[in-house]
Amino acid sequence: MSRSSHDVVIIGAGPAGLCAGMYAGRGMLDAVVLERGAPGGELLNTDLIEDYPGFASVKGHELARLMAEHAQKFGADIRQENVETVSKREDGIFEVTCTTGAVFEAPTVILTAGGTPIKLGVPGELEYAGQGVSYCAVCDGAFFKQQTIAVVGGGDAAVEEAAYLTRYAEKVYVIHRRDEFRASKLLQERLFANPKIEVVWNKVVTEMQGDHTGLKGLSLKDTVTGATSALPVTGCFVFVGFKPNTGLVTHHFAHDPSGYMITDDRMMTSIPGLFAAGDVRVQLTRQVTTAVGDATTAAIAVEKFLTERKAAAVA
Ligand SMILES: Cc1cc2nc3c(=O)[nH]c(=O)nc-3n(C[C@H](O)[C@H](O)[C@H](O)COP(=O)(O)OP(=O)(O)OC[C@H]3O[C@@H](n4cnc5c(N)ncnc54)[C@H](O)[C@@H]3O)c2cc1C
Repeated sequence: MSRSSHDVVIIGAGPAGLCAGMYAGRGMLDAVVLERGAPGGELLNTDLIEDYPGFASVKGHELARLMAEHAQKFGADIRQENVETVSKREDGIFEVTCTTGAVFEAPTVILTAGGTPIKLGVPGELEYAGQGVSYCAVCDGAFFKQQTIAVVGGGDAAVEEAAYLTRYAEKVYVIHRRDEFRASKLLQERLFANPKIEVVWNKVVTEMQGDHTGLKGLSLKDTVTGATSALPVTGCFVFVGFKPNTGLVTHHFAHDPSGYMITDDRMMTSIPGLFAAGDVRVQLTRQVTTAVGDATTAAIAVEKFLTERKAAAVA
């Protein structure tokens, strides 16, 4: 089992982790970035990014490669490790333990482990992900201009994003398994007033179908009668929840009802020395731009935290 000490351990090499690694390197910190897969995070699951400043259109994997190279140029040490736990010792040092048995120690940790959109788990969903099936309206809405699409879900995200998608789509069906929404009344009123939206109550998606050009339709089942039907659509946005990857942290931390970490304006969580950036954190929207913005703040805040810690130790 290997054990090493650093100034900061960054967990996850998506846009937030790579940006934090780049800033930590430029700040001359001894930083290690631990990533269980390939560097890039959700960028690797995104075909085109069209809303990252400076890049009118860039392939997700290309932006991932550029971000990783940029971080490494300034000294980020990216290692392939699957982090199992993050715990804090009595002496204030964090221990980050990986499945390989390696332990990384540091007085600060930046958690940039992102999150996972909850899937429906129906046949065809994974096959057409990125080819009609999406989990992000802001990211992918513009690819569905003048098309007929569906939104699945009944909470705030589904209702709000359905309205957003009518900017592009000609028609938006909102498929919900019950006969009323959980979403706030104000959002519901806006949705019902929108002539481009039609709600399909008491239905669940049982299968997604398509061909080599992408999604072509959905199979539905009525949750009351059991009757089956087909809905021809070329897009399906699934908003049935998003799970932040925060389960590694073994101590209690402040979070919102959905489990997103609450931070102060320096990105520090309720655990001193533990910072959070990107999709793990409570915020209005989750984008590449917000992830790198959070990470910039977090890395600079880590520098200040370490300086203050050293000063306190000398005093
Ligand atoms: C389909 C899709 C399309 C999108 N399109 C756009 C778009 O067009 N424009 C836009 O701005 N945003 C888009 N987004 C949102 C954007 O990708 C995210 O907001 C952004 O990637 C968040 O960055 P992050 O670094 O916080 O998290 P992530 O990108 O999720 O990166 C987290 C990283 O942490 C790693 N990790 C997790 N757990 C562990 C562990 N235990 N040990 C080690 N590593 C771990 C993961 O492997 C991953 O690499 C899209 C999202 C999706 C899902």
